[in-house]
Amino acid sequence: MSTELMDLNITKVEQSKIESVDWENLPFGRVFSDHMLIMDYENGAWNKPTIQPFENLSLTPATSVLHYGQTIFEGMKAYRNKEDEVFLFRPEQNAKRFNQSAVRMCMPTIPEDTFVDFIKALVDLDRQWIPTKEGYSMYIRPFMIATDPYVGIRPSSTYKFMIFTCPVGSYYTEPVRVKIETEFTRAAHGGTGAAKAGGNYAASLYPAKIAQEQGYQQLIWTDAKEHKYIEEAGTMNVVFQIGNKILTPRSSDTILDGVTRKSVVEIAKDWGLEVEERKITVEEIIIAAKNNELVDAFGAGTAATIAPIKTINFEGVDYELPAVENRDFSNKVLSYLNDYKHGSTEDKFNWILKF
Ligand SMILES: *Cc1c(COP(=O)(O)O)cnc(C)c1O
Repeated sequence: MSTELMDLNITKVEQSKIESVDWENLPFGRVFSDHMLIMDYENGAWNKPTIQPFENLSLTPATSVLHYGQTIFEGMKAYRNKEDEVFLFRPEQNAKRFNQSAVRMCMPTIPEDTFVDFIKALVDLDRQWIPTKEGYSMYIRPFMIATDPYVGIRPSSTYKFMIFTCPVGSYYTEPVRVKIETEFTRAAHGGTGAAKAGGNYAASLYPAKIAQEQGYQQLIWTDAKEHKYIEEAGTMNVVFQIGNKILTPRSSDTILDGVTRKSVVEIAKDWGLEVEERKITVEEIIIAAKNNELVDAFGAGTAATIAPIKTINFEGVDYELPAVENRDFSNKVLSYLNDYKHGSTEDKFNWILKF
């Protein structure tokens, strides 16, 4: 596989679109860099990958992914400093998780080092597209779709793996109002909650829309069986601080194992803080909030890194959290992670791939 990568076929754009980009106004996920990578799977093997200009796909309406959703994705970021050095943060974690998602969805896997080499090759080619401005980055979207021209339910025998990238601005990090969801379910034991599989997100839109109409930007999902345990926020994992203790639901087959959450836990432990990764009841969070012991709560994910939670709604009651300026842990971990991802602090945990 890695030898095939060496002869990765590259067709460059004739005319770059980079001059037409409004760098002061980069909405998330709507501006696309010049190139994309494509690799097709057929007859039980991956074909040679190509990098080519970003353009539309041509697919028959019978393409199986369009009907039954056999699709998975990843999300990660590249950062660039003023010296034109590019940094990827723990890309091998995304490679590993992509394959875990693939197995769950009956899709073919890609060797982890090959996956990372592809990202590197594509990002390197479009490295001028990575904004260097504070808080800005390049979002990277690897994904795979089932491409059999067949309207029948079975695992496809052909697939398309692709990667494209988007320069992105500073993510919206206004503190969010969240609602603890106790009626709808994101993932049940035995389901696909731990996979980054398209259908999970389609199924979460309706409950999220209801919460938004009620004035909450995000949901905090609870377990499918009893709606008693905190799970995650649907595109972010959640972390709480009660007194001096950092708490986060441990990963399970109903929770996406986020790289950001995992990194926050490792950093907190390194800083000598007490961290508990375990099942967390809604009740203990609400009791802590009532007693003013819930000093911090935030979502953790690649898009925002840390998204502070301002208000938690449970059973119709809003619980307000301390002002964001007064939250030592999340502020400190956010600035540490930002420095880390831009290569401006020592790579203590060996998390950076630089090129
Ligand atoms: C991607 C994702 C996360 C966050 O994972 P990161 O690796 O930190 O970006 C959390 N929950 C869900 C459901 C996700 O899809």
